[in-house]
Amino acid sequence: MRVLVTGGAGFLGSHLCDRLLGDGHQVIVLDSLFTGSKDNIAHLLGRNDFEFVRHDVVQPILLEVDWIFNLACPASPIHYQYNPVKTVKTSVMGALNMLGLAKRVKARILQASTSEVYSDPQVHPQTETYWGHVNPIGVRSCYDEGKRVAATLLMDYHRQSGVDIRIARIFNTYGPRMAVGDGRVVSNFIEQALRGETITIYGDGEHTRCFCYVDDLIDGLVRLMNYEADNAHEPINIGNTREQSMNELVTALGEVMGKTLTTERRPLPKDDPTRRRPDTTRATERLGWKPKVTIEEGLEKTVEDFRRRGVGA
Ligand code: NAD
Ligand code: UDP
Ligand code: UDP
Repeated sequence: MRVLVTGGAGFLGSHLCDRLLGDGHQVIVLDSLFTGSKDNIAHLLGRNDFEFVRHDVVQPILLEVDWIFNLACPASPIHYQYNPVKTVKTSVMGALNMLGLAKRVKARILQASTSEVYSDPQVHPQTETYWGHVNPIGVRSCYDEGKRVAATLLMDYHRQSGVDIRIARIFNTYGPRMAVGDGRVVSNFIEQALRGETITIYGDGEHTRCFCYVDDLIDGLVRLMNYEADNAHEPINIGNTREQSMNELVTALGEVMGKTLTTERRPLPKDDPTRRRPDTTRATERLGWKPKVTIEEGLEKTVEDFRRRGVGA
């Protein structure tokens, strides 16, 4: 297959490129390098089966491909709130352009959606049939609502024009190649621990997330793209189901690194969801997918990667 990966120079996108090339596909990356980096794909740049194009998905583009993975969008709150209007444009116009492309060349398209469509959920754990509890005018809305409109567009291109769509609702994912300074919790804690700094806990540290290791997540995305059935267009949650508080995450990281970590409290950001856990029954039943990597194994690999990049040296 000839596969287009938007956001392919980012954290998840670069791992997806590795996997797709390993499976024997040809890969084209479109990325504006807003939060991504050529470092993430430097090892691929000389290959005949790999192309990088610096391009903003807000602008239309003509290409011939068989599959599209639409991942372009900043994912860390500090980055998506830096220019919120641009975040909405990236999600909405990016999806529109990729859907127009998919329709023209009859490509299958997978959208990287997010657990943020459930926002601060009143149903726990979150099943795909839950519509979510989103503040439409808050500081996180540019991301949440942008992703919700993107999914709306996918469903409407599917119903109206028969475009072959897949929607992955990705829950918090971490691993090697998260950008230094990215601002998300796992990379923040690891950077602080490696530099011997105090760990910043927002709020009382009792709010929860489930952390999925990147290899597991990528395997889920590829399985979803390959899944063929009458219900293949329906959204599927992909995420780990082990729910942890941020305090528990600090403890786990301290154990992995073999050191006692000291913490300090910072104000909880506005609209920060209090708890999150995916119901992954669909992913298991339809895709035969289950995460394999424990948080301890995953943190160890991630710490090693941050060390290798010189953090704390
Ligand atoms: P990331 O910030 O590392 O990657 C995003 C990539 O998109 C970057 O390379 C960035 O330069 C690129 N990009 C941003 N705006 C663009 C634009 N207008 N045009 C072209 N490229 C653009 O983040 P990530 O964690 O790899 O996330 C990838 C995708 O997965 C995003 O769509 C994100 O919303 C989604 N997602 C990630 C997580 C997670 O926990 N990592 C969870 C849910 C959803
Ligand atoms: N588009 C694109 N590449 C293509 C085909 C379409 O970027 O190969 C863009 C197109 O410019 C438009 C969007 O995708 O902005 C939606 O295209 P569609 O054909 O669905 O709608 P229309 O062009 O009629 O608005
Ligand atoms: N968080 C924290 N300290 C940090 C960064 C984040 O306590 O240095 C918290 C944040 O308030 C949230 C959780 O960790 O409750 C996950 O935050 P992240 O930005 O990684 O992801 P999201 O909120 O988008 O799920």
